[in-house]
Amino acid sequence: MTPIVREQVVLAGYTTLGVGGPAARFVEAGSDEQVIAEVRDGDAVGEPVLVLGGGSNLVVADEGFPGTVVHVATSGVSIVSDDDGGVTVAVAAGEDWDVLVERCVADGLCGIECLAGIPGLVGATPIQNVGAYGQEVSETVVAVRAYDRLRDTIATLANAECGFGYRTSAFKRSVGAQRGRAALDAAAATGRFVVLGVTFRLSRNPLSAPVRYGELARVLGAGDGGRVPLADVRSAVLALRRSKGMVLDPADPDTRSAGSFFTNPVLDDGQFADVRRRAAARAGSAAGEVSVPHYPAGDGKVKVPAAWLIEQAGFGKGYPGDGGARISSKHTLALINHGAPGGPGGASSASLVGLAREIRNGVRQAFGVELINEPVLVGAEL
Ligand SMILES: Cc1cc2nc3c(=O)[nH]c(=O)nc-3n(C[C@H](O)[C@H](O)[C@H](O)COP(=O)(O)OP(=O)(O)OC[C@H]3O[C@@H](n4cnc5c(N)ncnc54)[C@H](O)[C@@H]3O)c2cc1C
Repeated sequence: MTPIVREQVVLAGYTTLGVGGPAARFVEAGSDEQVIAEVRDGDAVGEPVLVLGGGSNLVVADEGFPGTVVHVATSGVSIVSDDDGGVTVAVAAGEDWDVLVERCVADGLCGIECLAGIPGLVGATPIQNVGAYGQEVSETVVAVRAYDRLRDTIATLANAECGFGYRTSAFKRSVGAQRGRAALDAAAATGRFVVLGVTFRLSRNPLSAPVRYGELARVLGAGDGGRVPLADVRSAVLALRRSKGMVLDPADPDTRSAGSFFTNPVLDDGQFADVRRRAAARAGSAAGEVSVPHYPAGDGKVKVPAAWLIEQAGFGKGYPGDGGARISSKHTLALINHGAPGGPGGASSASLVGLAREIRNGVRQAFGVELINEPVLVGAEL
């Protein structure tokens, strides 16, 4: 089968933010061979290539993309092994993530239940090590099978080789690294490895992994580290996510986002003390008296919620940017396209990036903290 190829396809229709201009060339790749051939051909002639999943972590410029967009449309879920310890399952990059979670929960497979409701495809989950409610895919990924653009081969990376961290991985960090063509790769946004499939190890257990996230534990009536039926965790996670506009819903403009726009900054002692001093000065009190929310982040560092910093810097829920860009009325971290995408009141990519820049600069000025964008920016920068 030959892949479906089209020209001048407007990418707004392929991103959850509903913004982004046309791709010069757009290929629907239904097999690994097609994905590899398109990427390899683009690389051979020095043309930018963007591998596209569900478009839920992307901000594409209004000018569009000057090269080839390879939309991953592969499928397949297969059990590699099933033993007393659990089940090893290999999943094609083009499978829908949330559908996989639902199926695993229904089949009594434990390990990804807290990640219900996250949009996008399986192939993108290792890129930023998706996580929510105390779980990350890095806890269950056994291996990632990928096309290595640098060596022009298929590689299998074991978990330890994936460089997983908080909302990052070797796949994300390799953006811009391949072939030394920095300018091209910055425009391309897809890194050295094109994920073809992910293998997960899940345990066979009707109960969830220990619930480690306070808000979820409270809703479930489970103590910290308690275990509850898988389906209960999935339902509770979906309900919590819906209340924050974090489950895609065409009828709810608060869900027209790329999820959280900023990661939570990880601060060392000195940086955290500075944030506390500045917060106290803003509140007109002594540094010892202000309470800045924070969580341990390892190596003696702390993670401070970006949402708290943003709100304290004066950007509350519903804060309007230009055009239809604004902060979600349900979640301070989500920047949304409030109007009809491409229609009346719809935001442009430039207006969304402009709002993100205003927030980033405001937090820098108020607290001296540099917020980092979580979504991948294509043809745009903060
Ligand atoms: C409402 C909403 C809620 C969200 N909640 C969460 C959350 O709770 N936790 C969380 O971690 N994220 C969350 N996200 C972000 C997003 O859903 C995840 O990052 C998701 O994994 C992105 O998948 P995708 O297929 O849409 O990737 P895309 O947006 O299509 O691509 C993102 C990046 O990955 C690259 N990429 C995609 N597929 C491949 C591949 N096969 N090989 C190589 N590179 C690839 C792209 O080139 C791009 O650079 C949320 C987003 C939305 C809109």
